Amino acid sequence: MSQNLSYDVLIVGGGHGGAQAAIALRGAGFEGSIAIVGRETEMPYERPPLSKEYLAQERAFERLYIRPAEYWREKAVDLLLGRTVISVDPQDHAVECQDGPRIGYGKLIWAAGGDPRALPLPGADLPGVHAVRDREDVDAIMAELPGVARIVVIGGGYIGLEAAAVFSKLGKQVTLLEALPRVLARVAGEELSGFYEADHRAHGVDLRVNQQIEALEGEGRVSGVRLRSGELLSADLVIVGIGIIPCVEPLIAAGAEGSNGVLVDPQCRTTLPDVFAIGDCAAHANRFADGAVIRLESVQNANDMAQTVAKTICGEETEYAATPWFWSNQYDLKLQTVGLSTGYDQAVLRGDPASRKFSVVYLKGGKVVALDCVNNARDYSHGRKLVELGIAADAEELADAGRQLKEWLAAQAA
Ligand code: FAD
Repeated sequence: MSQNLSYDVLIVGGGHGGAQAAIALRGAGFEGSIAIVGRETEMPYERPPLSKEYLAQERAFERLYIRPAEYWREKAVDLLLGRTVISVDPQDHAVECQDGPRIGYGKLIWAAGGDPRALPLPGADLPGVHAVRDREDVDAIMAELPGVARIVVIGGGYIGLEAAAVFSKLGKQVTLLEALPRVLARVAGEELSGFYEADHRAHGVDLRVNQQIEALEGEGRVSGVRLRSGELLSADLVIVGIGIIPCVEPLIAAGAEGSNGVLVDPQCRTTLPDVFAIGDCAAHANRFADGAVIRLESVQNANDMAQTVAKTICGEETEYAATPWFWSNQYDLKLQTVGLSTGYDQAVLRGDPASRKFSVVYLKGGKVVALDCVNNARDYSHGRKLVELGIAADAEELADAGRQLKEWLAAQAA
C-alpha cells in the first residue's frame, strides 16, 4: 500500500454508519475519492443478525454483507480493511494507522462504533468468555457450541436476551444474570421487562435479576460464575453483554470535545475542523430526549446520521432529527420500538400480553413519546406518527386495544 494515501473523504469504521456514509455520498453524486478504513477484515456487514439468525446458524455470513464486493469497486470506494486508526492529526488533516500508513483526508467521517464493555472481574479474560460484537466473536462462540451444555449470559439488555433465546432454542441450558431489578431496565418500562422475563423463563431460561457477580472461575477455561452470594453456577461458556464503550480515543486525544462518545452538532460535525462523527459513538442533542445529549446504539441512528453527513458534505442544508426506532427478535416475538421512553410518566398497555400481541404506549405530560410493540406492526406504524407529532392522548382511551391508534391522528387532523 502506498505510504502517501489521501482521500477527499476518509471514513473510519466499516460498520453500518461508515458503509452508509459512502453509499449516501455516491447516491448524492459525490465524485471525490472515498475510502473506508476498517479494523475488521470483513467488508461492511449487518451487525444485528449476529445475535439472531447468524448465531442460530439460520443465515450464512455471505448474506449479511451490506453491499457485494462489486458495489464498492464500481462506486470507487476503497476498502482499507484490517487497519486500525490510532491517531488523528487535525492540523495536517491526516490519520495514522497502527503499523502505518498515514492517510490524508479532506473530510473525515468517524464511524468507529464501540467496543464491548469488559467485566471488571477476575477471570473475565478466561477462554470461553465472549462478547457479541463482531463476526469474530460469534464465529468463536459457534465453534465452541457443539461441546457446550451450560451457558451463562451476563447482562439482560437486548443482546444478552437475544443470545439467550438462540441458545435456549438450540437446546442449551441457559442462565441469564442481570444486575438490576429487571431486564431491559435502561430502555423499556416495567411491563415489557416483566413480559420478557416471564417468556424466557417459560422457554427454560434460568433468568435471575438483582445478581452481583464475584468472579469467573476456571482452570485454563471458564467453568463457572461465582455469585456474590457465594453460589457457583457451572458454565461451559459465558457471554458478556453489558454495553459498549464508544471508540473515540484518537478523536478526544486530538482535542475533540466529548467523553462518553464524541460531541457532534446537528450536522454531525465534531469540534475538530472537517471531522464528522456518526453512529454509536456520536453524542448529540436529540429532540426526542428533550434536547439532552445522548448516544443511540441502533442501525437507524447510524444510517440516518450517515445521510446527514453525506448531505452536509454535498452542500445541502440539513439537520439530524430522525425518529429513533429499534427492533429485537426473541423466540417468536418481534419487538419494534419507536421514540425514547426515558422519563415517561405513564405507561399504557394495549392488548393482552398472553396473546403474544400487544403494545406499551409511553406518555410524558400527556403526550405520546414512545411505543414498544410486540408482534404488533399496526400499532408500531400508527404509533410512530403519534410520537413524531407528540400527540396528546388520554391513557384510559389508549388502553382500549379495539381502537386503532390512527384514530388519534385523525382527531389531531380534524
Ligand atoms: P459499527 O457498526 O459497530 O461499526 C464500527 C466499525 O468501526 C467496526 O467494524 C469497528 O471494528 C471499526 N473500528 C473501531 N475502531 C476503529 C479504528 N480505530 N480504526 C478503524 N476501524 C475501527 N441495532 C438495531 O437497530 N437493531 C438490532 O436488532 C440490533 N441488534 C444488534 C445485535 C448485535 C449483536 C450488535 C453488536 C448490535 C446490534 N444493534 C442493533 C446495534 C447496531 O448494530 C449498531 O448500533 C450499529 O452497528 C452502529 O453502527 P456504527 O457504524 O456506529 O458502528
